[in-house]
Amino acid sequence: PANHNRDLLAGLNPEQQKAVESSARAVVIQAGPGTGKTRTLTAKIAWLISKKNIDPLSILALTFTNKAATQLGQRMDNYMTKAKTPVLAATFHSFCLKLLKEYKAFDAVIVDDPIRLSLVKEAIESLESIEITKENSKKGQVNKTDQLISLCKQNLLGPEDDLEKFIPLEKFVHQGELESFKKIYQAYQVLCKEHNVADFEDLMAMTINMLNCEENVLASVRKQYQYIFIDEYQDLNFGQYVFVKLISQDNHIFVIGDPDQSIYGFRGSDNKYFKLFEDDFPGCEKILLTQNYRSTQTILDASFQMISNSLDNEEKFKVFSDVESQKKLIIKETATERAEAVAIGKMIENLVGGTSFFSMDAGKTDQDETKDYCFADFAVLYRTRKQCEIFIDVFEKEGIPFQAADKKNMVDIEGIRQLISLCRIMSQNECFIDVEIVFDHFGVRLGKKGKEIFHKAYNDACKTNQDILDEFVQTDISGIKAATRQNIVMIAQKLKCLQEEIMQCDTETGLRLLFEKADLKPIIESNDKTNQIFEKLLSIGILNDDLRGFLDAVALNQDEDTLEFNTQKVSLMTLHAAKGLEFPVVFVAGCEQGLVPFARDGKNTDDLEEERRLFYVGMTRAMDILCLTYAKKRRIFGTIKKRQRSFFIEDIEAKLTQVEKAPVKLSVKKKAKQLELF
Ligand code: ATP
Ligand code: MG
Repeated sequence: PANHNRDLLAGLNPEQQKAVESSARAVVIQAGPGTGKTRTLTAKIAWLISKKNIDPLSILALTFTNKAATQLGQRMDNYMTKAKTPVLAATFHSFCLKLLKEYKAFDAVIVDDPIRLSLVKEAIESLESIEITKENSKKGQVNKTDQLISLCKQNLLGPEDDLEKFIPLEKFVHQGELESFKKIYQAYQVLCKEHNVADFEDLMAMTINMLNCEENVLASVRKQYQYIFIDEYQDLNFGQYVFVKLISQDNHIFVIGDPDQSIYGFRGSDNKYFKLFEDDFPGCEKILLTQNYRSTQTILDASFQMISNSLDNEEKFKVFSDVESQKKLIIKETATERAEAVAIGKMIENLVGGTSFFSMDAGKTDQDETKDYCFADFAVLYRTRKQCEIFIDVFEKEGIPFQAADKKNMVDIEGIRQLISLCRIMSQNECFIDVEIVFDHFGVRLGKKGKEIFHKAYNDACKTNQDILDEFVQTDISGIKAATRQNIVMIAQKLKCLQEEIMQCDTETGLRLLFEKADLKPIIESNDKTNQIFEKLLSIGILNDDLRGFLDAVALNQDEDTLEFNTQKVSLMTLHAAKGLEFPVVFVAGCEQGLVPFARDGKNTDDLEEERRLFYVGMTRAMDILCLTYAKKRRIFGTIKKRQRSFFIEDIEAKLTQVEKAPVKLSVKKKAKQLELF
């Protein structure tokens, strides 16, 4: 109805309205934090549907994380009067998988992180020339190689390509290591093929390949998605750009982002895609938003002073707020990381209790505006995931309700890994590593010979592991110790029985069945966290009627931050995870050299500019109160180190801040000495 449309635009400023009503084929909004970019995007989608009668099914909103996709979906639902919008809000990865399944008989297993890492390890080990040095510990080497392979794939580069031309390899490999890296990459690709698996980044390359090779598929995709939206465009990488360009030809495309919030350089994202966009979509409409509706002017001034010191020579998008505030930024020093967590906990309790913490140390000040906050209004942000442990510990003791966006991969947990491997075997959608994991779980080591036979059978005949297991059951395979063979046959039979049962039931029941009958119950039940993940898997199971759909969903959701909205809890998360979100009160903890900016070896920061932008993202999440904390001493890898305040803080004018130093405490010894004197 007309009324509703008017409402839709009424909540927007003229620039935002212009973006919503623009009929340009390509629109790009480049604007600072909190200026309503995401709000404009959702409003435009709502407007297209209700005012322009655009079929919701022809709208596609692409995001970079599952969390962002969910949030976008929720924000759109808020706008719509109807129950739920069928607009597709998906991550690039899940959209690619959807296309591959729709148009191609896509049957590869998508490997999850642990399996991918073990393939990388296998690839490294298969090349004997690779020497793994002490400082380059095996795990470090595997992770580094894995990251680099992903980066190559994000740039659509194979092992044969001129890698050095396209990616800043010096960040990852030393001179002379490049050739061996190429060999490892090659070996990894061969292994993936042998195991019939694809990794995440392959999804993008495979989709682009499909669209390039099959004209009718491309035409059909273009016809289906005539309105394409991308939020957080500054996070785009090369593969994604190629993909977006391909599908958006002759369609409407709307991209929004903030170059100063680009924080995924290590994944190949680059600001240059804003410029490229203007070249590739000539005549695109550019819209700038300058009013910030999130933060107080003090918070904006401080953030702007900090980001303006970046060396990128780019014009910064200055934003303004109507909200004047007397509240200064709080910069708080504490003695240790525990003291930091305790202090933050205290400030939260005080604010929830209605006492402003501005007055805690120095009596009533002009900053004292008391306002009622609830626990959900607070976020504690930090640079490394490890930092959250101390907060969990302290908040639990203090009874402060919290939720931690725990990005630990859910499939990489004892009990869950085995369950997922079993599911893959049950769905005949497995790779050899699954068989190893499951045999290990049942206490049988396959041995070298056993592995060889599996590998050979698997490569020779395109058989599934289940076929091969059947062979083990039925035929007499020589060369394996009798006892081992007996065990293998026993497990093969067990798996076969389980599979027959599972074929009869839905996914959720199937999962419960494995839980009960495959010796998983004791492992999963012994740990709260594992139990929670199992519950989560069950809920994914309910949504997917077949096991394969379930496994795909798990692979795509494996690194999802487990944050709930609308809960009465303090949110704990990394600076990266905070992107796009806002909270009335934000603490950025650990504002110390080596953490903010982060330095891998404690000394050298890989990319100072990116670290600066990351801190900027953190600061600009705050609506009313921003508090930056740092500890004078912190335990780093087991040793207590003296810390220095982040030099990013020095970029903020003193008049915007209120600095609270840690009280100088006498050591226990000194205190004891003093007492002796009396
Ligand atoms: P970020 O760069 O952090 O992603 P953003 O530009 O996407 O920020 P939004 O999250 O869309 O900004 O908006 C920030 C806040 O401002 C939200 O609470 C939003 O509801 C509010 N807001 C945006 N536009 C307006 C407006 N015209 N009037 C009132 N509030 C607004
Ligand atoms: Mg946003």
